[in-house]
Amino acid sequence: MATGDNKMIKLYLDIDGVLLTKKQTRISDNCVEFLEYIVGRFDCYWLTTRCKGDVNSTLESLSGFFDSRSIVNLKKIKPTSWDSLKTEAIDISEEFYWLDDAPLQAEIDYLKKNGVLNRLIIVDLERKNELLNVVNNQLSVL
Ligand SMILES: [Mg+2]
Repeated sequence: MATGDNKMIKLYLDIDGVLLTKKQTRISDNCVEFLEYIVGRFDCYWLTTRCKGDVNSTLESLSGFFDSRSIVNLKKIKPTSWDSLKTEAIDISEEFYWLDDAPLQAEIDYLKKNGVLNRLIIVDLERKNELLNVVNNQLSVL
C-alpha cells in the first residue's frame, strides 16, 4: 500500500501465531498467498522473538516450513532490533501496521499513549480464514 509520495507503508510482522500456528507445527492457512500479497505491497519488517537485528537465524528457523517460492518472499522482509518490547522497533513517526497474535499490555499501552493503537492488527488463527480476512478487511489496497 503506497502513501501519497509513493512510499510503501511499513508492515511489522510476527511469526508465531501469525505465519506459523501457535504450536509451531505448520504454516497457518493461506500463509503462502498472504506472504505474496504483503511483500508486494508493504515495506515489511520482522517483529518477532525469532529476529534480533539479523535475518539469517530467522530464515533458518523458517526454512523447514516453507517452499522455495515463499522463501523468496520471506527474504524480502527486513530485520528489526528490540530488547524488551517489540514497540521499541516500531517507527511511529511513519505510517505502519503491526500484525501480532499476542501483544503485551505494555506494548498496547505504548501505542495507545502515542495515538497509534489503531495500527495494531491482532491476528487470531482460531478464526477461519484469518489471514485472508486481514488482507481483505484491514490491508486491502483501496
Ligand atoms: Mg506471536
